Amino acid sequence: MRVKIQNLTKRFGETLVLNSVSLDIADQELFFLLGPSGCGKTTLLRLLAGFYQPDEGEIIFGDKPMNGVPPHERNTGMVFQNYALWPHMTVAENVAYGLDVRHVTSAEKKQRVAEALAIVQMEAYGERTPNQLSGGQQQRVALARALVVRPDVLLLDEPLSNLDAKLRLEMREEIRRIHAQTRITTVYVTHDQKESLSLADRLAVMRAGVIEQVGDPRTVYRAPANRFVAEFIGETNWLSAEVIACASGAMALRTEFGSFHAPADVRFRVGQKLWVGFRPEAVQMGPAETNCLATTIRQVNYLGEVEQYQLDLGPGTTIKAIEQNPLEIRRLGAPLKVHVRPQDLLLLQVER
Ligand code: ATP
Repeated sequence: MRVKIQNLTKRFGETLVLNSVSLDIADQELFFLLGPSGCGKTTLLRLLAGFYQPDEGEIIFGDKPMNGVPPHERNTGMVFQNYALWPHMTVAENVAYGLDVRHVTSAEKKQRVAEALAIVQMEAYGERTPNQLSGGQQQRVALARALVVRPDVLLLDEPLSNLDAKLRLEMREEIRRIHAQTRITTVYVTHDQKESLSLADRLAVMRAGVIEQVGDPRTVYRAPANRFVAEFIGETNWLSAEVIACASGAMALRTEFGSFHAPADVRFRVGQKLWVGFRPEAVQMGPAETNCLATTIRQVNYLGEVEQYQLDLGPGTTIKAIEQNPLEIRRLGAPLKVHVRPQDLLLLQVER
């Protein structure tokens, strides 16, 4: 089911929580809403579910406008952060709950509950009560309860945030598998960038009720629209720079710490100021002819598979770097030359 959101605005009293948000979510897409706490993600999900009505704008499922349509007539399934299972009902009864209000025959109910429990691989647990289940199992039941109604749109509100780190990784794989199997259009809210990068077909990064960027994970990570998106989706080092020459295919930039070469970019002209960004993992150890920085090692953090460094460029300017599979022992206070490949630079216009 395609979901179109057009100029959606929502206020709570004087507070503008969503400011003219527009999105076009494709049929069968696994779409993420990502942003810091309070940016309006849950409010947008609740508007899709029909728990809130917008002040302005429209929500369209397929070609059907949803404004004024109550939640139980929207055919959405929702999964909450805290599972929201009924403690006094069995797993099977919890899953069947969504069907009770839909008046299906008891034979069909039984079959659909079994089907939904099979999708989440919980067939053997139908007679248990929620307090006899682990957190991950409870979240599977909550997913089954959302799936049993065969929703057109699945709405997931931080579904993994109550699970420990290991279980969260396992459930990520489960959500990927269930989505591949059911192909239900899914809108998934999270503030965990790794969760969205690893699962999303596309994601929207939100800030204070506004969508800052929509794109597939690789595009948003490697070509963020602005500094907020770049920093929310991953760590970034920034240097302020000026364009000093443009030739076909390349640009020369001057920074306080040396000159840089970057791929040509139509957004920039000679004389223009800009931000040059690069991720810690884009920092390569050792010198190079271009894009080279002379640093002093300020902090070292050995983590086994990687080593993290804080490197001083000069008074008050520090960058972060990550070295994969570190062999050499690098000492605090030692000089270290590093470089960044031109294709790993993030170039951004200076925001006014
Ligand atoms: P989180 O990740 O913390 O859940 P969020 O991005 O989902 O954050 P929302 O829950 O959508 O954010 O809230 C957005 C803003 O709207 C917040 O400032 C919040 O305090 C406010 N808000 C949310 N629900 C209501 C409500 N029912 N009445 C008044 N204000 C609300």
